Amino acid sequence: METTAQLNKFELLKTHFGYDSFLPNQEEIINNVLDQKDTIAIMPTGGGKSLCFQLPALALDGTAIVISPLIALMKDQVDALKANGVPAQFFNSSQPYEEQQQVLRELQSGNLKLLYVAPESLPQLNFILKTIKIGLFAVDEAHCISSWGHDFRPAYTQLKSLKEQFPNVPLIALTATADRATREDIAVQLAIPNAETFIASFDRPNLYLDVRPGQNRNKHIFDFLRNHKNECGIIYCLSRKSTEKLAATLSAKGYKAEAYHAGLTSEERTQIQENFINDISPIIVATIAFGMGIDKSNVRWVIHYNMRKNIDGYYQEIGRSGRDGQPAHTILFYSFADVIMLRKFAEGSETEAYQLAKLERMQQYAEALSCRRKALLGYFGEHITEDCGNCDICRTPPKYFDGTLIAQKICSAVARLQEQEALGMVLDVLRGAQNAQVYDKGYQNIKTYGAAKDIAWRDLQQYAIQLLNQGVLQIYFHENGRLLLTPLAKKVLFEGKKVRLAVIIQEVETVKTERAP
Ligand code: ADP
Ligand code: ZN
Repeated sequence: METTAQLNKFELLKTHFGYDSFLPNQEEIINNVLDQKDTIAIMPTGGGKSLCFQLPALALDGTAIVISPLIALMKDQVDALKANGVPAQFFNSSQPYEEQQQVLRELQSGNLKLLYVAPESLPQLNFILKTIKIGLFAVDEAHCISSWGHDFRPAYTQLKSLKEQFPNVPLIALTATADRATREDIAVQLAIPNAETFIASFDRPNLYLDVRPGQNRNKHIFDFLRNHKNECGIIYCLSRKSTEKLAATLSAKGYKAEAYHAGLTSEERTQIQENFINDISPIIVATIAFGMGIDKSNVRWVIHYNMRKNIDGYYQEIGRSGRDGQPAHTILFYSFADVIMLRKFAEGSETEAYQLAKLERMQQYAEALSCRRKALLGYFGEHITEDCGNCDICRTPPKYFDGTLIAQKICSAVARLQEQEALGMVLDVLRGAQNAQVYDKGYQNIKTYGAAKDIAWRDLQQYAIQLLNQGVLQIYFHENGRLLLTPLAKKVLFEGKKVRLAVIIQEVETVKTERAP
């Protein structure tokens, strides 16, 4: 039976947000929230997450409490809501005391439909929250709750008590991070074990995916820009200094380019952002500090001047191009020197092993010999069977051979090891290695032990990586990166699905040699 709130939703969509229809998954998510059920919404950047809690906030009785770590963006979001006639406010430590008191009074009056609050400031509201009607809790950027996630925020761990204190208020957690470990952790940490999870497709078919070796980057960029005159784009660099250097080089060649990084004053940064949004300076050379919350639909290209530390960040950044659905071009420059530098950044961190595993996966993506989109989507748990036709590999594919038998052997080893082991051990078992780790676990007795002993270790490793990139295997980044079988692997093992593997070329070998400790 549809509730009044549900019947209302199209009207609200039109009157308050000006849209005629929902984006993929929005309606299902909103229905679930309107049914007062806990919800986990995984959507790529630009997928339209905000509407998933803003619309229910209007439809349900009471005030919706939105927990967001992005203090800098709260004001803009609230202003946009107010402009659409929605009574909304925000509460965080950047506000003067007087303003905070005013917001608290508004909250207490019960007239607010939405209140954005930073997790650190939530305890200050506790008293009032107990006295008012709360429509729902929305936890935005929910991956921040996971210490496995890429930007863990300690204050998020307190959110566990929300469900204890307000068991009857529906809670929706939203994030663009889709890896399975983080997803499961969100449900545990927020104490919403029965939440329904909605995962929108991460595919952005209009983005051309291109990876190039890091040599002569500047020349590549100039060649590229010559063919992309008058288009807006972003170049991401690893360091502040390199953003400035590259922006200067581009300016000297007559391009309107500005550097952007966290070392600038906030006035300077706002100015640069505005110039970019209004097409006054169409090229931004930035550190990853740039882009959060920038909603510009006609960014035509994104270049990563340096390797990225993980696929999550990389995908988020290239996702800033082509939001209008028109073709957009992305280039990642891949150099081993960058990988070494990124490894250094990760070293000594509490989550070092996890970060290094993610970096390694990024490197494998950069070295992919099969469709890039398959690799990216496979990483996010989405398994497509067809090559995309819109990436550098699809455009100029390497030589392939029928690798079905090898794939079956690898998958069957993963299965026999109960999906408990990481790549190194799987390869050891397949190669029939006689070492203590294998013997300690008794793996010399399993059926696939030695099944691929005729294939050199390096080649076998490369084939397994190809299976990762083709979405046949997946890494569970929690727990030392054990290998998992995906639905595609089951097709390979039990339904005779054929697998193409790329013939290993010398170039890849060189990189691997370089990589050995
Ligand atoms: P996310 O938070 O997932 O990155 P946003 O909530 O900022 O995404 O939405 C991304 C863009 O999509 C915004 O410009 C928003 O106005 C637009 N949008 C959201 N929902 C719809 C819809 N139903 N129809 C059209 N545009 C929408
Ligand atoms: Zn492709």
